[in-house]
Amino acid sequence: MIPRNLIINAATDVGFDMVGIAPAKPLHEEYSHFEKWLFEGCHSTLGYMERNAEKRFDVTKLVEGAQSVVVCGVAYLSEVSRGYPEGCRTKIASYALARDYHITIKEMLSEVAERLKAYSPNLRFRTFVDTAPLSEKSYARRAGLGWIGRNSLLVTPNHGSMLLLGEIVMDDVVDEYDSPMDSVGCGECRRCVEACPNGAIREDKTIDTRRCISCRTIEPMASGEAIDLDGWIFGCDRCQSVCPYNMKAPLHSNHRFDPIINPLALDSDAWQGMSEEEFSALASTTPMTRAGLQRIRTNVKSEK
Ligand code: SF4
Ligand code: SF4
Repeated sequence: MIPRNLIINAATDVGFDMVGIAPAKPLHEEYSHFEKWLFEGCHSTLGYMERNAEKRFDVTKLVEGAQSVVVCGVAYLSEVSRGYPEGCRTKIASYALARDYHITIKEMLSEVAERLKAYSPNLRFRTFVDTAPLSEKSYARRAGLGWIGRNSLLVTPNHGSMLLLGEIVMDDVVDEYDSPMDSVGCGECRRCVEACPNGAIREDKTIDTRRCISCRTIEPMASGEAIDLDGWIFGCDRCQSVCPYNMKAPLHSNHRFDPIINPLALDSDAWQGMSEEEFSALASTTPMTRAGLQRIRTNVKSEK
Protein backbone atom coordinates (compact mmCIF):
# COMPACT_ATOMS: atom_id res chain seq x y z
CA MET A 1 0.00 0.00 0.00
CA ILE A 2 1.32 3.43 -0.98
CA PRO A 3 0.71 6.40 1.33
CA ARG A 4 -1.29 9.17 -0.33
CA ASN A 5 1.00 11.82 1.15
CA LEU A 6 4.03 10.28 -0.51
CA ILE A 7 2.36 10.60 -3.92
CA ILE A 8 1.12 14.14 -3.32
CA ASN A 9 4.52 15.31 -2.08
CA ALA A 10 6.39 13.66 -4.96
CA ALA A 11 4.07 15.17 -7.59
CA THR A 12 4.22 18.61 -6.00
CA ASP A 13 8.02 18.51 -5.73
CA VAL A 14 8.30 17.63 -9.40
CA GLY A 15 6.23 20.69 -10.35
CA PHE A 16 2.64 19.52 -10.74
CA ASP A 17 0.06 22.04 -9.55
CA MET A 18 -2.63 19.50 -8.78
CA VAL A 19 -2.75 15.80 -7.97
CA GLY A 20 -5.53 13.43 -7.02
CA ILE A 21 -5.88 9.67 -6.75
CA ALA A 22 -8.80 7.53 -7.87
CA PRO A 23 -9.37 3.81 -7.52
CA ALA A 24 -8.91 2.06 -10.88
CA LYS A 25 -12.60 1.35 -11.42
CA PRO A 26 -14.66 1.44 -14.60
CA LEU A 27 -16.62 4.63 -15.20
CA HIS A 28 -19.91 3.29 -16.56
CA GLU A 29 -21.90 6.53 -16.65
CA GLU A 30 -19.16 8.40 -18.53
CA TYR A 31 -18.86 5.53 -21.00
CA SER A 32 -22.54 5.58 -21.93
CA HIS A 33 -22.37 9.38 -22.32
CA PHE A 34 -19.40 8.92 -24.66
CA GLU A 35 -21.15 6.20 -26.67
CA LYS A 36 -24.09 8.51 -27.29
CA TRP A 37 -21.68 11.22 -28.51
CA LEU A 38 -20.02 8.74 -30.87
CA PHE A 39 -23.37 7.44 -32.10
CA GLU A 40 -24.41 10.98 -33.00
CA GLY A 41 -21.27 11.37 -35.12
CA CYS A 42 -19.87 14.25 -33.10
CA HIS A 43 -16.34 12.86 -33.32
CA SER A 44 -16.26 13.65 -37.04
CA THR A 45 -12.77 12.87 -38.40
CA LEU A 46 -11.42 11.80 -34.99
CA GLY A 47 -11.63 8.15 -36.03
CA TYR A 48 -9.29 7.08 -33.23
CA MET A 49 -12.06 7.90 -30.74
CA GLU A 50 -14.02 4.89 -31.98
CA ARG A 51 -11.18 2.51 -31.31
CA ASN A 52 -10.80 1.05 -27.82
CA ALA A 53 -13.79 3.07 -26.65
CA GLU A 54 -14.42 0.76 -23.70
CA LYS A 55 -10.81 0.98 -22.49
CA ARG A 56 -11.09 4.75 -22.21
CA PHE A 57 -13.42 4.36 -19.27
CA ASP A 58 -12.01 1.20 -17.72
CA VAL A 59 -8.37 1.54 -16.95
CA THR A 60 -8.13 -2.10 -15.86
CA LYS A 61 -8.59 -3.00 -19.54
CA LEU A 62 -5.61 -0.80 -20.38
CA VAL A 63 -3.25 -1.88 -17.57
CA GLU A 64 -3.48 -5.38 -16.21
CA GLY A 65 -3.80 -5.47 -12.43
CA ALA A 66 -4.41 -1.72 -12.15
CA GLN A 67 -5.49 -0.65 -8.68
CA SER A 68 -5.01 3.11 -8.62
CA VAL A 69 -4.91 6.04 -11.00
CA VAL A 70 -2.79 9.03 -9.96
CA VAL A 71 -3.90 12.07 -11.96
CA CYS A 72 -1.46 14.97 -12.08
CA GLY A 73 -2.21 18.40 -13.54
CA VAL A 74 0.04 21.30 -14.43
CA ALA A 75 -1.19 24.80 -15.28
CA TYR A 76 -0.08 26.48 -18.51
CA LEU A 77 -2.10 29.70 -18.46
CA SER A 78 -0.11 32.57 -19.98
CA GLU A 79 -0.95 36.14 -21.02
CA VAL A 80 -2.41 35.13 -24.40
CA SER A 81 -4.56 32.48 -22.73
CA ARG A 82 -6.67 35.37 -21.51
CA GLY A 83 -7.45 36.44 -25.06
CA TYR A 84 -5.92 37.99 -28.18
CA PRO A 85 -6.21 41.62 -29.27
CA GLU A 86 -9.41 42.39 -31.19
CA GLY A 87 -9.00 41.65 -34.90
CA CYS A 88 -6.04 39.27 -34.56
CA ARG A 89 -6.29 36.70 -37.40
CA THR A 90 -3.34 34.48 -36.45
CA LYS A 91 -4.38 33.16 -33.06
CA ILE A 92 -2.79 30.02 -31.62
CA ALA A 93 -4.08 28.01 -28.65
CA SER A 94 -1.84 28.87 -25.74
CA TYR A 95 -0.92 25.29 -24.80
CA ALA A 96 0.76 24.96 -28.20
CA LEU A 97 3.17 27.84 -27.64
CA ALA A 98 5.32 25.91 -25.18
CA ARG A 99 7.47 22.79 -25.47
CA ASP A 100 5.32 19.76 -26.31
CA TYR A 101 3.53 18.80 -23.11
CA HIS A 102 3.55 15.12 -24.05
CA ILE A 103 7.31 15.10 -23.60
CA THR A 104 7.52 17.39 -20.58
CA ILE A 105 4.73 15.71 -18.62
CA LYS A 106 6.05 12.24 -19.42
CA GLU A 107 9.40 13.29 -17.94
CA MET A 108 7.68 14.67 -14.86
CA LEU A 109 5.57 11.53 -14.37
CA SER A 110 8.69 9.38 -14.62
CA GLU A 111 10.29 11.43 -11.86
CA VAL A 112 7.23 10.91 -9.64
CA ALA A 113 7.12 7.19 -10.43
CA GLU A 114 10.81 6.79 -9.57
CA ARG A 115 10.10 8.12 -6.09
CA LEU A 116 7.22 5.69 -5.68
CA LYS A 117 9.47 2.85 -6.85
CA ALA A 118 12.06 3.85 -4.27
CA TYR A 119 9.38 3.36 -1.61
CA SER A 120 7.89 0.22 -3.14
CA PRO A 121 10.43 -1.54 -5.41
CA ASN A 122 7.92 -4.12 -6.68
CA LEU A 123 5.46 -1.48 -7.86
CA ARG A 124 4.36 -1.88 -11.48
CA PHE A 125 2.99 1.11 -13.32
CA ARG A 126 2.46 2.80 -16.66
CA THR A 127 2.42 6.52 -17.36
CA PHE A 128 0.08 8.22 -19.82
CA VAL A 129 -0.11 11.65 -21.41
CA ASP A 130 -3.01 12.13 -23.77
CA THR A 131 -2.00 9.56 -26.38
CA ALA A 132 -3.43 6.30 -24.98
CA PRO A 133 -7.15 5.54 -25.01
CA LEU A 134 -7.77 6.79 -21.48
CA SER A 135 -10.39 9.37 -20.60
CA GLU A 136 -8.07 11.60 -18.62
CA LYS A 137 -10.65 14.19 -17.68
CA SER A 138 -13.09 11.52 -16.43
CA TYR A 139 -10.47 10.01 -14.13
CA ALA A 140 -9.34 13.52 -13.13
CA ARG A 141 -12.91 14.30 -12.07
CA ARG A 142 -13.08 11.01 -10.19
CA ALA A 143 -9.75 11.88 -8.51
CA GLY A 144 -11.25 15.10 -7.19
CA LEU A 145 -9.36 17.62 -9.34
CA GLY A 146 -12.50 19.39 -10.53
CA TRP A 147 -15.69 18.95 -12.54
CA ILE A 148 -16.64 18.63 -16.20
CA GLY A 149 -17.58 22.11 -17.36
CA ARG A 150 -20.23 23.00 -19.92
CA ASN A 151 -17.45 23.19 -22.54
CA SER A 152 -16.67 19.50 -21.86
CA LEU A 153 -13.31 20.27 -20.25
CA LEU A 154 -12.13 19.59 -16.73
CA VAL A 155 -12.55 22.79 -14.71
CA THR A 156 -10.69 23.18 -11.43
CA PRO A 157 -11.47 25.75 -8.73
CA ASN A 158 -7.99 27.34 -8.55
CA HIS A 159 -6.45 26.74 -11.97
CA GLY A 160 -9.52 26.76 -14.19
CA SER A 161 -9.34 24.54 -17.26
CA MET A 162 -5.93 25.54 -18.63
CA LEU A 163 -4.34 22.52 -17.09
CA LEU A 164 -2.52 19.67 -18.81
CA LEU A 165 -2.96 16.19 -17.40
CA GLY A 166 -0.89 13.05 -17.03
CA GLU A 167 -1.56 9.79 -15.22
CA ILE A 168 0.31 7.05 -13.41
CA VAL A 169 -1.70 3.84 -13.40
CA MET A 170 -0.25 1.45 -10.84
CA ASP A 171 -0.88 -2.01 -9.47
CA ASP A 172 -0.97 -1.08 -5.80
CA VAL A 173 -3.64 0.48 -3.63
CA VAL A 174 -3.31 3.80 -1.80
CA ASP A 175 -4.17 4.35 1.86
CA GLU A 176 -6.65 7.13 1.01
CA TYR A 177 -8.39 8.04 -2.23
CA ASP A 178 -9.81 11.41 -3.27
CA SER A 179 -13.52 12.02 -3.81
CA PRO A 180 -15.16 13.75 -6.76
CA MET A 181 -15.89 17.44 -6.27
CA ASP A 182 -19.57 17.04 -6.94
CA SER A 183 -20.82 19.97 -4.86
CA VAL A 184 -19.08 22.56 -7.06
CA GLY A 185 -19.69 23.23 -10.74
CA CYS A 186 -20.57 25.74 -13.41
CA GLY A 187 -23.81 26.82 -11.72
CA GLU A 188 -25.82 29.19 -13.91
CA CYS A 189 -22.79 30.25 -15.97
CA ARG A 190 -23.06 29.74 -19.75
CA ARG A 191 -20.26 32.01 -20.90
CA CYS A 192 -18.43 29.35 -22.89
CA VAL A 193 -21.58 28.28 -24.70
CA GLU A 194 -22.39 31.87 -25.62
CA ALA A 195 -18.80 32.69 -26.66
CA CYS A 196 -18.21 29.75 -29.01
CA PRO A 197 -18.14 31.26 -32.52
CA ASN A 198 -19.72 28.19 -34.11
CA GLY A 199 -22.17 26.86 -31.56
CA ALA A 200 -20.04 23.75 -31.11
CA ILE A 201 -20.85 23.29 -27.42
CA ARG A 202 -23.82 21.00 -26.94
CA GLU A 203 -26.26 21.10 -24.06
CA ASP A 204 -25.00 17.78 -22.69
CA LYS A 205 -21.48 19.19 -22.03
CA THR A 206 -19.99 17.66 -25.15
CA ILE A 207 -18.47 19.22 -28.25
CA ASP A 208 -19.61 18.73 -31.79
CA THR A 209 -16.13 18.45 -33.32
CA ARG A 210 -17.60 19.10 -36.76
CA ARG A 211 -18.14 22.68 -35.63
CA CYS A 212 -15.15 23.08 -33.31
CA ILE A 213 -12.28 25.28 -34.52
CA SER A 214 -9.79 23.41 -32.37
CA CYS A 215 -10.46 20.22 -34.32
CA ARG A 216 -10.97 21.91 -37.68
CA THR A 217 -7.54 23.59 -37.55
CA ILE A 218 -5.54 20.54 -36.43
CA GLU A 219 -7.24 17.23 -37.13
CA PRO A 220 -7.69 15.60 -40.56
CA MET A 221 -9.72 17.87 -42.82
CA ALA A 222 -13.44 17.21 -42.66
CA SER A 223 -15.53 17.29 -45.78
CA GLY A 224 -18.76 19.22 -45.69
CA GLU A 225 -19.70 22.64 -44.48
CA ALA A 226 -16.85 25.10 -43.92
CA ILE A 227 -16.87 26.89 -40.59
CA ASP A 228 -15.67 30.31 -39.46
CA LEU A 229 -12.22 29.87 -37.90
CA ASP A 230 -12.57 33.22 -36.10
CA GLY A 231 -8.90 34.08 -36.62
CA TRP A 232 -7.56 30.84 -35.16
CA ILE A 233 -4.81 29.09 -37.11
CA PHE A 234 -3.99 26.32 -34.61
CA GLY A 235 -6.46 25.28 -31.92
CA CYS A 236 -8.89 27.61 -30.17
CA ASP A 237 -8.98 28.95 -26.61
CA ARG A 238 -12.17 30.98 -26.89
CA CYS A 239 -14.43 28.89 -24.64
CA GLN A 240 -11.66 28.78 -22.04
CA SER A 241 -10.59 32.44 -22.14
CA VAL A 242 -14.09 33.55 -21.17
CA CYS A 243 -14.42 31.08 -18.29
CA PRO A 244 -14.49 32.93 -14.96
CA TYR A 245 -12.30 30.23 -13.43
CA ASN A 246 -9.59 30.92 -16.00
CA MET A 247 -10.03 34.67 -15.68
CA LYS A 248 -9.21 34.52 -11.99
CA ALA A 249 -6.58 31.75 -12.22
CA PRO A 250 -2.93 32.74 -11.70
CA LEU A 251 -0.46 32.60 -14.58
CA HIS A 252 1.41 29.29 -14.75
CA SER A 253 4.39 29.02 -12.44
CA ASN A 254 6.19 25.96 -13.82
CA HIS A 255 8.78 27.39 -16.23
CA ARG A 256 8.84 24.20 -18.26
CA PHE A 257 5.56 25.51 -19.70
CA ASP A 258 6.76 29.01 -20.58
CA PRO A 259 5.76 29.97 -24.13
CA ILE A 260 8.66 29.71 -26.57
CA ILE A 261 6.71 31.28 -29.46
CA ASN A 262 5.29 34.79 -29.38
CA PRO A 263 2.18 34.51 -31.55
CA LEU A 264 1.71 38.28 -31.65
CA ALA A 265 5.03 38.65 -33.47
CA LEU A 266 3.78 36.57 -36.43
CA ASP A 267 1.12 38.00 -38.74
CA SER A 268 -0.46 36.32 -41.78
CA ASP A 269 2.34 37.40 -44.10
CA ALA A 270 4.96 36.01 -41.73
CA TRP A 271 3.23 32.63 -41.73
CA GLN A 272 2.73 32.61 -45.50
CA GLY A 273 6.35 33.53 -46.16
CA MET A 274 7.82 31.07 -43.68
CA SER A 275 10.02 28.26 -45.03
CA GLU A 276 9.92 24.72 -43.64
CA GLU A 277 13.38 25.31 -42.15
CA GLU A 278 12.18 28.44 -40.41
CA PHE A 279 9.10 26.63 -39.13
CA SER A 280 11.27 23.83 -37.82
CA ALA A 281 13.56 26.28 -36.02
CA LEU A 282 10.53 28.04 -34.54
CA ALA A 283 8.18 25.23 -33.61
CA SER A 284 9.78 21.80 -33.90
CA THR A 285 9.60 21.22 -30.14
CA THR A 286 5.98 22.42 -29.81
CA PRO A 287 2.65 20.70 -30.44
CA MET A 288 2.28 22.80 -33.61
CA THR A 289 4.25 20.18 -35.55
CA ARG A 290 1.13 18.02 -35.31
CA ALA A 291 -0.52 20.18 -37.94
CA GLY A 292 2.65 21.17 -39.79
CA LEU A 293 3.37 24.36 -41.70
CA GLN A 294 1.28 23.55 -44.78
CA ARG A 295 -1.87 23.01 -42.72
CA ILE A 296 -1.23 26.16 -40.71
CA ARG A 297 -0.81 28.09 -43.94
CA THR A 298 -4.12 26.70 -45.20
CA ASN A 299 -5.76 27.89 -41.99
CA VAL A 300 -4.12 31.32 -42.34
CA LYS A 301 -5.34 31.54 -45.93
CA SER A 302 -8.91 30.80 -44.97
CA GLU A 303 -8.69 33.65 -42.47
CA LYS A 304 -7.64 36.33 -44.94
S1 SF4 B 1 -12.53 25.36 -28.81
FE1 SF4 B 1 -13.44 27.15 -29.86
S2 SF4 B 1 -14.77 26.31 -31.46
FE2 SF4 B 1 -14.28 24.61 -30.02
S3 SF4 B 1 -15.95 24.63 -28.55
FE3 SF4 B 1 -14.38 25.96 -27.69
S4 SF4 B 1 -14.90 28.03 -28.44
FE4 SF4 B 1 -16.05 26.57 -29.65
S1 SF4 C 1 -17.43 29.36 -18.81
FE1 SF4 C 1 -18.93 28.98 -17.19
S2 SF4 C 1 -20.17 27.29 -17.99
FE2 SF4 C 1 -18.30 27.33 -19.20
S3 SF4 C 1 -16.90 25.93 -18.19
FE3 SF4 C 1 -16.48 27.95 -17.33
S4 SF4 C 1 -17.79 28.05 -15.50
FE4 SF4 C 1 -18.55 26.37 -16.74
